[in-house]
Amino acid sequence: MAVTMEQARQWRTRFDEESPEAVIRWALSEFHPGIALASSFSMEDIVLIAMMADVRSDARIFALDTGRLHEETYETAEAVRRMLGVRVEWRFPSMAAVEELERSKGLFSFRESLENRHECCRIRKVEPLSRALSGLRAWVTGQRREQAVTRRTLPVVEIDEGHGKILKLNPLAGWTEQEVKEYVRKRGLPVNRLHDMGYPSIGCAPCTRPVAPGEDPRAGRWWWERPEQKECGLHARNAGEYDRRDKGEGEE
Ligand code: SF4
Repeated sequence: MAVTMEQARQWRTRFDEESPEAVIRWALSEFHPGIALASSFSMEDIVLIAMMADVRSDARIFALDTGRLHEETYETAEAVRRMLGVRVEWRFPSMAAVEELERSKGLFSFRESLENRHECCRIRKVEPLSRALSGLRAWVTGQRREQAVTRRTLPVVEIDEGHGKILKLNPLAGWTEQEVKEYVRKRGLPVNRLHDMGYPSIGCAPCTRPVAPGEDPRAGRWWWERPEQKECGLHARNAGEYDRRDKGEGEE
């Protein structure tokens, strides 16, 4: 059953100040198995996987294997799977679409224009994400407000207009980086070795570089683009938004 705007508004008011654990507990009791976490095995995602596994060992977690991830990310995913005993539902891009992209435009077309970058993200991330979300009533993300200018007003509960108006939960929206690190340290959770090598935000290998101390945490993602362009389409607030960005009409 679809969530109404009124329900989402009530939940937003109720959960905006709640702890992430309380949000997770409520969400799993309300929506499981129609709810899943989208994980890139960032520190935030690992915190959420631990919180979800505390509530139910069969909580659903999916991950997008774009084919261009760092080896360190696969190692982290495996360490998390073993330590927390969770099952990861890996999703892959359409083989035909990747073959066509690489044959026609080469292996690094995403560096040539914003349109090409969005095309690659669409094939490797956005379309597999849509498949992963189809049939769900809600999804969970590790987004936080302080991560990027595009996330400053991020609520804990929102309706995902771009994915069939299902519920989108961002339980860590109000957490600081310090709170995330503290939680990981206390529980001894595995973390991606790239963080120690200067990568605060990790995506695909060719589109992520380390940042200097004090630099914006997302400065290393698509570093050749302007800050307000740095989203991959996974978190577009509505279906038309991503296309408008391609045309240079900006975003939130
Ligand atoms: S982050 Fe880079 S390699 Fe990964 S899907 Fe987007 S453009 Fe392609």
